Amino acid sequence: GGNGDAIGDGPDELTLLAERHLVQPWPVSGSIGAEARGRLEAGEGIYVTDAAGRRLIDGPAGMWCVNAGHRRQELADVMAAQAMELSYNSPWYTTNAPSAVLSKRLADHAPDGLDHVFYTTGGSSAVETALRFMQFANNVKGRPDKKLIVSRQGGYHGSTYLSASLNGRPRDHDWMDSAEGLVIKLTCPNPFRRPEGVGEAEFCDALVAEFRDVIEKVGAGRIGAFIAEPIMASGGVIVPPEGYLVRMRELCREHDILFIADEVVTAFGRLGHVFASQEVFGLDPDMITFAKGVTSGYFPLGGVMIAGRLFEELRRSNHSDAMFAHGLTYSSHPIGCAVALKNLDILEGGLLDHARDVSGHFQSSLKALEDLPLVGEVRGLGLMACVECVADRVSNNPLTLDLEVGKRIDTHCQELGLLVRPLINMCVMSPPLTISKSQIDDMATILRRGIELTTDDLVREGLWHG
Ligand code: PLP
Repeated sequence: GGNGDAIGDGPDELTLLAERHLVQPWPVSGSIGAEARGRLEAGEGIYVTDAAGRRLIDGPAGMWCVNAGHRRQELADVMAAQAMELSYNSPWYTTNAPSAVLSKRLADHAPDGLDHVFYTTGGSSAVETALRFMQFANNVKGRPDKKLIVSRQGGYHGSTYLSASLNGRPRDHDWMDSAEGLVIKLTCPNPFRRPEGVGEAEFCDALVAEFRDVIEKVGAGRIGAFIAEPIMASGGVIVPPEGYLVRMRELCREHDILFIADEVVTAFGRLGHVFASQEVFGLDPDMITFAKGVTSGYFPLGGVMIAGRLFEELRRSNHSDAMFAHGLTYSSHPIGCAVALKNLDILEGGLLDHARDVSGHFQSSLKALEDLPLVGEVRGLGLMACVECVADRVSNNPLTLDLEVGKRIDTHCQELGLLVRPLINMCVMSPPLTISKSQIDDMATILRRGIELTTDDLVREGLWHG
């Protein structure tokens, strides 16, 4: 189970060390500073092994990041080789070969015009960089009031102060402060939760109209950027209505608002392409933030693709001494960039093709779970999907359902050999892209059994009546 106990009696030594000294992300105050989560010991391909020796399919690929799978010799080798060649250099005064080569290769994959990269340490710092660049550029261009940021309910963009201020899930803000005055949040583009009696096209029209109204009311002269995950990941794999992203992009263009596509999850093969913006959604953003899959999670690296046009504007301005005072010790880290280059070799060398090949089977295998009475909807695209449980099919209400239903499913699935990412009433699936069709079948079979067992439990406890 999830409490980290190894086989035998009581918590083991490592669990005790973690309980006493380790603080992990997103703890609750009732157990903060006194908690140890289930420990993993090893990984290979799509599998991880836990402290009890159970081999589990890594359903969420770590945290949507282990795209090339666990225990890749070539990624380990390139990391070691780069550490022996040049382990670090200061990006303040020097540069290195892997970051230069990687920049060119990423620019080749990015939508036209996104030909520059600023590297960071992960997704939050990538989002932070994109936003601070927008603020800087508008200061230099003599329009210091054009800095508000528009994001969406349900979105997730990170855990640093400004990136977290964009987040739109209730739990992100219940007990946390944020830079509220800098952010405007629009309605979540979730077709499953659209108002009753409203068709999907009409819903899309309303979402676009809402943005247009906000621009009119607040004034385009005060809005600097719109940021959106092409598919909301942590918000429950929300695939927006057809045409939504392109229409939001057009509004941004009309009003000189920078469109930032947050591809921290959707890039590096998750949707079958290095970047999904253009190839999947026909989008040409001004900036793309990325992280996670860029190194398949083997090294902390992120970055922002930035349109060269934005730099030209600055070079032509009257403030040649204006400094973009922003940079991280580990920007352009040589080891991270070397790993990313090898990871790109793997993606280009067949893994993108494979991901596109198996994604239909992945989606249809999970979609079949909709015949279970507890399941309200299964949705997704590429190799990301979400199984959403509901109290009943008429109201589709998740709130009258036991709120730990995702966790309950995860507990059963772990007994059966699958690690799930529980999200309140949802299970998110985003396995390593290396997953085969028969492994997808294993995954779906276990998930079905886990949901059936959970349904039995809920009925027995009087918490669910279908
Ligand atoms: N943006 C998106 C879309 C994400 O899903 C995440 C993390 O899950 C982030 C940004 C933040 O990335 P990181 O946790 O690497 O800082």
